[in-house]
Amino acid sequence: MNSCLFCKIVRGEIPAQVVYDDDRVMAFKDIDPKAPVHLLIIPKKHMASLADVTAEDGACLGHILQVAAQLAHEQGFSDRGYRVVNNCHQDGGQAVDHLHFHLLAGRAMQWPPG
Ligand code: 5GP
Ligand code: ZN
Repeated sequence: MNSCLFCKIVRGEIPAQVVYDDDRVMAFKDIDPKAPVHLLIIPKKHMASLADVTAEDGACLGHILQVAAQLAHEQGFSDRGYRVVNNCHQDGGQAVDHLHFHLLAGRAMQWPPG
């Protein structure tokens, strides 16, 4: 999608600190981190939100979660723990309309979230 911020990052038109990249998925550092480690993991294919996912996207979503676990493991957070978050639409707090999962680690998280 031409005007989408994260599609621009996928195309390399906007710089990002990319930590993972394959044919389906990209992960990069959040520009405004909310934890010592704050990565965004996205499908390269534009999907506006979790509400827009279809059955055929299931494998890609599973892959995103597997990449999240892999990155957390590589960065040494598997044992201590971490949080994976998706914000969907207005009440979920979604600001960027390209599906993304936050990987937060390096501090104790609160529950319930605000
Ligand atoms: P949301 O609120 O939509 O779940 O999260 C959007 C996230 O994207 C926020 O944590 C925000 O800091 C991050 N973000 C917004 N613009 C940029 C950008 O240009 N580059 C990067 N790396 N992150 C961004
Ligand atoms: Zn997009």
